[in-house]
Amino acid sequence: MVDVAIVGSGPAGLSAAAHAAAKGMSHVLLEKTDHLSDTIYKYQKGKHVMATPSHLVLRADLDFDAGKREAILETWNRQIAEGKVNVQLNAEVTAITGAAGDFAMTLKNGQTVRAKAIVMAIGTQGNPNLVRCPVGDGAVVQYQLDDPGEYVDEHIVVIGAGDAGIENAMGLAADPQQGNKVTIVNRSRDFATAKAANVQALLAMEGEGRITVMLETTASAINQGEIVFDTRDGEVKAPCDRVIARMGSAPPRGFVEATCAEFEEREGKRAIKAGTGIAFTSADRVAYPKLSP
Ligand SMILES: Cc1cc2nc3c(=O)[nH]c(=O)nc-3n(C[C@H](O)[C@H](O)[C@H](O)COP(=O)(O)OP(=O)(O)OC[C@H]3O[C@@H](n4cnc5c(N)ncnc54)[C@H](O)[C@@H]3O)c2cc1C
Repeated sequence: MVDVAIVGSGPAGLSAAAHAAAKGMSHVLLEKTDHLSDTIYKYQKGKHVMATPSHLVLRADLDFDAGKREAILETWNRQIAEGKVNVQLNAEVTAITGAAGDFAMTLKNGQTVRAKAIVMAIGTQGNPNLVRCPVGDGAVVQYQLDDPGEYVDEHIVVIGAGDAGIENAMGLAADPQQGNKVTIVNRSRDFATAKAANVQALLAMEGEGRITVMLETTASAINQGEIVFDTRDGEVKAPCDRVIARMGSAPPRGFVEATCAEFEEREGKRAIKAGTGIAFTSADRVAYPKLSP
């Protein structure tokens, strides 16, 4: 049995694991994919990773400086190896039983890992928000973009104008030689969740006629070769070979409840048993778990 098992090797899990290793605690870092930090690994090729907030207080010995995705991953891979962090890849945790002092985690491969304490650092990317409108046969809808350079001469619609959507749209339109016609749609009038630098760069590209920006717009149907928008001025149809939907993600409440929670009947409703060590900030399905103090 290890002192602490860390589930998930994003920046949160890597920091916790590096800290445990530096303190000489027995530990294991369990990561479901075959590489560290899957969310950052899946950022689009060459992405400039910004520091949010701009002055991060680092709590572990891993370095972080704003920079290219590739450089950040290279630094973390090297420092995790140098710090002798005990990493187990291809180790997806599917169930947790027991209590503080003796937890048992079941992995997808059937293995059991026991730990006195668990740090859950699984992020939210396993739960992307999906498009809600009808999607016809043959229509292409994807929730991730690896390499914007792969697409040529396509009409591409990016749904969602947060940082991920804006960066995808700008990447797809960056090289005019690719010949993509890129449209980004946002259901609200402003860019409330995006960083100012991204919004500024997007609006500059719109001003140069390289990207079409549609505000107060939602998709009402996605068909092969065509998308239907619901806009302030009514329905608009446009050619569309591919939709890239970047509409955020929800915390994995189902997973956390299924693996960590015990339930009881309270006032006629199924509720998480008081005192079982897990609580959410509200009854809303997209509420985040309460953080440990
Ligand atoms: C497209 C995009 C661009 C972004 N750009 C920036 C940026 O420029 N600057 C910035 O500061 N932030 C950015 N963010 C946000 C940033 O990526 C997150 O805040 C950060 O990754 C969260 O870290 P985390 O460690 O909590 O979770 P994650 O990084 O999501 O890591 C979770 C890890 O847990 C693993 N995992 C999940 N379930 C299990 C399981 N059951 N068993 C084992 N392992 C599991 C996953 O495979 C993953 O490796 C961006 C996010 C996205 C999606």
